[in-house]
Amino acid sequence: MARYTKAVCRLCRREGTKLYLKGERCYTDKCAITKRPGKPGEHTQERRGKMSDHGLQLREKQKVRRTYGLQEKQFRRYFKEAERQQGITGENFLKILESRLDNVIYRLNLARSRPEARQIVLHGHVLVNNRRVNIPSFLVKEGDVISIKEKSRGLAHIKEILETNEGRGVPSWLEVDLEKATGKVLGEPRREDLDMEFEEHLIVEYYSR
Ligand code: SF4
Repeated sequence: MARYTKAVCRLCRREGTKLYLKGERCYTDKCAITKRPGKPGEHTQERRGKMSDHGLQLREKQKVRRTYGLQEKQFRRYFKEAERQQGITGENFLKILESRLDNVIYRLNLARSRPEARQIVLHGHVLVNNRRVNIPSFLVKEGDVISIKEKSRGLAHIKEILETNEGRGVPSWLEVDLEKATGKVLGEPRREDLDMEFEEHLIVEYYSR
C-alpha cells in the first residue's frame, strides 16, 4: 500500500496542529508547530475563519486520518463499518481506529509514535496472545495480551523506547507492564481516553453529504 513518506511535520503544519508523528521530537522546541505554527505558506487562524462547513469537515477528517496514518480507502471502509454497528457512528468509528494493533502498541507506550508502532508491528516484533501478528490493521479485542517478542526486547531501539516511555500512563481500557513489554486489553476503547481532541461529528457530516 502506498504510504506518505515525505516529511511528516508538513502534515501537522497542513492541519495547523500537532499530530505527534515523530515521537520525542514532538515534545521539544524542535517541533515544527512549536517553532512555526500554521499551514505551510498560510495563516491557519485566518483561513479557519473563512472556511466553509465542508472545508471544516474535510480538515477534521484529514486530521484524524493522518493521526492514525491511514489511506483514504481504508479510512472510509472503517467509517462504513462504524455506520453498520449499533450506537453512535462517530464513537464507533473512533473505537475501531483505536483498536488497531499499531495504535494499541503506541497507546501501551511500546512505541513513541504511531508511525513507529506501525514499523514495530510490520517488522514482526509483536505477539498477540503469543502468536506473531505483523498486520498493523489487526483489531484487538477485550482479553487480548499484546507483547514485544522476547528476542526483540534485547534490541537497542526497543530498549530505548521502553526507557523513554517509562512512567507514562495508559488509557483505562489497557494495562501494561513495560518491564516485560507486555500489555492487556481490558475492555473497549473509550471516547474519553483519546489522546487527541477530535470532533468526529464533522467526519460523520463529511461522509453523509
Ligand atoms: Fe513534527 Fe511531531 Fe511537531 Fe508534528 S508534532 S510537527 S510530527 S515534531
